[in-house]
Amino acid sequence: ARPVVAIVGRPNVGKSTVFNRMIGDRLAIVEDRPGVTRDRIYGTSEWNGKPFSVIDTGGIELDGEDMMLKSIRMQAELAIAEADVIVFMCDVKSGLTQSDEEVAQILYRSRKPVIVAVNKVDNMNRMDDIYEFYNVGFGDPIGVSGSHGSGMGDLMDAIVENL
Ligand code: GDP
Ligand code: MG
Repeated sequence: ARPVVAIVGRPNVGKSTVFNRMIGDRLAIVEDRPGVTRDRIYGTSEWNGKPFSVIDTGGIELDGEDMMLKSIRMQAELAIAEADVIVFMCDVKSGLTQSDEEVAQILYRSRKPVIVAVNKVDNMNRMDDIYEFYNVGFGDPIGVSGSHGSGMGDLMDAIVENL
């Protein structure tokens, strides 16, 4: 079977935007089961000749502070269970937040490789701001812009190196 890459992170960091960039038009399955996994979205991708599946875990996002925390925890657990590589997505505009730390706490327990992608780096002036994300402890953060597509090559390189 193809290796699986899961994108996790709190709501609005740009998971779905980056997911769409990664898969192009190769949307494979939209889960429609009742319950918490309802909107999990799968796609397929390929880089340097290496095929893999991608999960956008953000489909299970729920409203309200409590529910949001619950759902991002669930996503992170899911990613740990199912993925071979985890992309932990953050947002350079908001900087490192308490919710990011919550996700990181769960990912520390994983033995899967975790890549920190810092989204919304829409221009090079923002590049200096990604260094604070070293503090989450998963190595070099990779700056990307889901809107513009910049940094996607670096992210894909890091993913396939860890498959
Ligand atoms: P998700 O909740 O993590 O799946 O995030 P979305 O992909 O739905 O994006 C949340 C919001 O951030 C939307 O308004 C996007 O248009 C915006 N967004 C996503 N990627 C970028 C980016 O690279 N730069 C900027 N400036 N905005 C972005
Ligand atoms: Mg989303």
